[in-house]
Amino acid sequence: MTSPPRLEVQNLTRSFDGRSVVEDVSFSVSAGQVACLLGPSGCGKSTTLRIIAGVDIQDSGSIFVDGRLVCDTVFRVPPERRAIGLMFQDFALFPHLPVSENVAFGLKGNFQSNRGRVCELLERVHMTEHLDSYPHELSGGEQQRVALARALAPQPRVLLMDEPFSGLDERLRDGIRDETLSLLKEEGTAVLLVTHEPDEAMRMADQILLMREGRIMQQGAPYNLYNAPVDRQAAAFFSDIN
Ligand code: ADP
Ligand code: MG
Repeated sequence: MTSPPRLEVQNLTRSFDGRSVVEDVSFSVSAGQVACLLGPSGCGKSTTLRIIAGVDIQDSGSIFVDGRLVCDTVFRVPPERRAIGLMFQDFALFPHLPVSENVAFGLKGNFQSNRGRVCELLERVHMTEHLDSYPHELSGGEQQRVALARALAPQPRVLLMDEPFSGLDERLRDGIRDETLSLLKEEGTAVLLVTHEPDEAMRMADQILLMREGRIMQQGAPYNLYNAPVDRQAAAFFSDIN
């Protein structure tokens, strides 16, 4: 028997003030796979992620993690019990806590009681020497590395990332993307990464979910979307990639 996908989203719909923002969105992500939800600003990417995280509620549709129902219109597992990690643009590090306690935050206990796991992760994001630093003492790229370690510390089944690289200096971005990808692959987490940049999706995704005006227009391997775009608008969207 094959195991169910790590994350499965079925027929998700959400509207605000009568305006449909997410419309009948369905997809699944396997363990060790990076799926990129790609589309222009305002197309409903963050809303989709917030519903999966449990900080917003859908009008209809269901979400499953490892085949287990996480929420539908009548049943709802609270966000902290979904085994879903978050790395959002506006989900910053805690300024009053050192790096060590930031990474330990999602674990039971503090840094002292989780030394092994915290140090292992900091080593893998090359931040060991910043164990006692505070967030304001770090560069944007360094803060982003700590945020990744913090998100992965509790070993989430699924990691949701909302434009995690958009605040970073362009010169650093490719390097951090590659490092992030290799760490995610080592951990075997199922990842749903939101981006509006086609080149980021082409670089990082195993699967692209191309979104427009609340709908998934096309989904598949990056190569397939690039070579056989669903329509002229999709072709234009990918045409800037070098
Ligand atoms: P994206 O992340 O793709 O840029 P969003 O999911 O943030 O898009 O937003 C999609 C649309 O839904 C936008 O038009 C946005 O203004 C609207 N929207 C998002 N959240 C709310 C809300 N809480 N109330 C009303 N409208 C919202
Ligand atoms: Mg967004």
